[in-house]
Amino acid sequence: SDSHFPVPLSPRHVDYSLHYPQFFPSSDQMGNPKRIQFADVGCGFGGLLISLSTLYPETLMIGMELRDKVTEYVKERICALRGTNPGQYQNVSVVRTNSMKFIPNYFEKGQLTKMFFLFPDPHFKEKNHRRRVISPHLLDEYAYVLEIGGVIYTITDVEELGEWMKSCLENHPLFETLTEEELEADPVVKLLSTATEEGQKVARNGGQTFRAVYRRIQPSV
Ligand code: SAM
Repeated sequence: SDSHFPVPLSPRHVDYSLHYPQFFPSSDQMGNPKRIQFADVGCGFGGLLISLSTLYPETLMIGMELRDKVTEYVKERICALRGTNPGQYQNVSVVRTNSMKFIPNYFEKGQLTKMFFLFPDPHFKEKNHRRRVISPHLLDEYAYVLEIGGVIYTITDVEELGEWMKSCLENHPLFETLTEEELEADPVVKLLSTATEEGQKVARNGGQTFRAVYRRIQPSV
């Protein structure tokens, strides 16, 4: 249950020196304005983060994962990569948490530039839709922690869930879809279906994927 893992009281209580010791040599982080900008929600085994780490070496990023053992695996994976590639993978970390409850404990208003929801659990039954990580209510929270212009990336191999995520985003007043040209120009979009363990599994089995990529916009007056 949730009581087994610590939760920071507020984003100011997140200890950056534990996650990113090279960027934060001391635990006094007040003088260092650098903050986490990418969040991979339900990161699983961390494949996306590992790819993003070298693509954006100066951007701090974090995976949020509910399963303890999976989180430990990702920690060890990052640790090993740091060991064999000195100076690299210093910008990536992972935390065990329930993202549906604790996003505002980790990020301030407008802090994030990208959020990822890759192959989330589908929760097929109607009565379980409230467990889905994309919902109208949770989009309010994601809109709060994303900066204006920040992007939310979703992908799934479950058509029904793809429709659901798209319609939640489409109907939310603080998000607008990216154009085909914008999707083409964004190097991250290609990683959505290739970089994660789940994406690779779907690709091996020749499965279809359904993508929805939306930008956080200013409310219209
Ligand atoms: N994104 C990864 C990928 O594409 O390979 C993992 C996909 S896996 C199907 C979904 C992941 O979300 C699981 O690892 C699960 O433990 C995690 N998860 C489910 N609910 C969560 C929650 N409320 N908070 C954090 N992680 C969650």
